[in-house]
Amino acid sequence: MKTPYGRECRFFYGDYYRGRNFEECRLLPEGDKQQWEPVLCKNCPVPGILANNACQYMVLSGKIKKSLFSRRVQVSAYCTKSHSEVKDPNVGCEICHKGIFSAGSDSN
Ligand code: SF4
Repeated sequence: MKTPYGRECRFFYGDYYRGRNFEECRLLPEGDKQQWEPVLCKNCPVPGILANNACQYMVLSGKIKKSLFSRRVQVSAYCTKSHSEVKDPNVGCEICHKGIFSAGSDSN
């Protein structure tokens, strides 16, 4: 579903049926869901991550990070194949990429 800022995010849910105007972020844990507002989608890294890396083994989790004057969605990622934290969710943990990379490097 597209966020109010026009980017595709599978965690965004909006129900506008028959005048309803319900929106939520299904990435966040229950406590943070109550504090979520659509404006947090504006600078959220998740739509970019989903566009850059469609790895089926990567599980994203998020929380609302608060600082003095702002709030933003902070994302972490875990790989269920390598059983490790993913440093850069845009790239992945590199286990799968290494397989692709070494297959391509055989011709060198
Ligand atoms: S805050 Fe981020 S993860 Fe949540 S619905 Fe918006 S874009 Fe998606």
